[in-house]
Amino acid sequence: MPSFTTIADRACSGSPATPDEALAILQSSDDDLLDVVAAAARVRRLHFGDAVKVNYLVNLKSGLCPEDCGYCSQRLGSESEILKYSWLPGDEARRQAEFGLAGGASRVCLVASGRGPSNRDVERVASMTEDIKAHNPDVEVCACLGFLKGGQAERLRSAGVDAYNHNLNTAESNYAEICSTHTFADRVDTVEQARDAGLSPCSGLIVGMGESPEQIIETILELRRLDADSIPVNFLIPFEGTPLAGTHELTPQHCLRILCAVRLMCPDSELRIAGGREMHLRTLQPLALHVANSLFLGDYLTSEGQDAEADLDMIVDGGFSIVGADSAAELRERVRAAKAARTAALLPEAAPAAASLPCGKPAPAATATGGIVVPTIRRRGAGTAAAPNA
Ligand code: SF4
Repeated sequence: MPSFTTIADRACSGSPATPDEALAILQSSDDDLLDVVAAAARVRRLHFGDAVKVNYLVNLKSGLCPEDCGYCSQRLGSESEILKYSWLPGDEARRQAEFGLAGGASRVCLVASGRGPSNRDVERVASMTEDIKAHNPDVEVCACLGFLKGGQAERLRSAGVDAYNHNLNTAESNYAEICSTHTFADRVDTVEQARDAGLSPCSGLIVGMGESPEQIIETILELRRLDADSIPVNFLIPFEGTPLAGTHELTPQHCLRILCAVRLMCPDSELRIAGGREMHLRTLQPLALHVANSLFLGDYLTSEGQDAEADLDMIVDGGFSIVGADSAAELRERVRAAKAARTAALLPEAAPAAASLPCGKPAPAATATGGIVVPTIRRRGAGTAAAPNA
């Protein structure tokens, strides 16, 4: 087994880590953690310098999906107390996207739950994209609408959509364990349709769902074969009311090793620390930015992330720059001031995490009991009257 330094040297000169090397990284000890991170960080610096690309999620349509992905709070039969709503109007979609842009995002991700869009849905997202881009010419738009049918990727591309997200999530050999309503091959097919239509393929994984280290490597290999431009790595958020509730398999150190394995196997792919980073990387999040070059600002689709200011603090304190911003520190101050003004103007709606749900049940909150963290269900931003976390 070559040293981590040798693996990084080879990755920097165009030969990514082999599956066996990446597996050895996943199985390396905590004593070696900083050496692994340092190796992956060199590759990250080579391709992305000190830049962090900030993405912002807009959940256009939430819940009530007919699919049964076991990790998903929006799945068929989910008892998670998430927000459920149908399509946001176009002007509201732009308003929500612009909160993220003001917070430093250079890419907005327009996401809708469901198996896949109808042609009417595609037209709706096409027109939202045209509107967002007409008012914000530098923005990148990524759509995430589920399985695509013939012609839909081309239509999105022609409307100005830049990228399409469709995660593989886990290995083919593990897929039946997490979903029965579609197959791994279905997912691959949509990534290929998007890529073939000229949309930048964004596809990643969810770890912490019972997969083996070999299956993590199997998934990364397939993402590499698909030539994914962006790879979001999600860390399972074990929502109450889903089959994976109570699943806590990850340690912060292991999450870092997974990011290093992706970086060294896919040296020049955009690597995004995604959902669950607060819960699983915890205090090691800033270290992860030396391996990954991108994150989502603020909240996720159905759960709340840490404060957007804390995301920006992490970037500024780490000495990173933000793609599209002249100064990360000045941006942070602007965001802080704008958010304080917005919160003051919108009170009491803007108060975080209401004490009870509309149905009268107590609102789930992020709590840590015996080391088990329960995620906070999103109650602000898209689909609510409350100020977004951006
Ligand atoms: S298809 Fe998407 S929204 Fe539906 S259950 Fe699966 S992950 Fe959730």
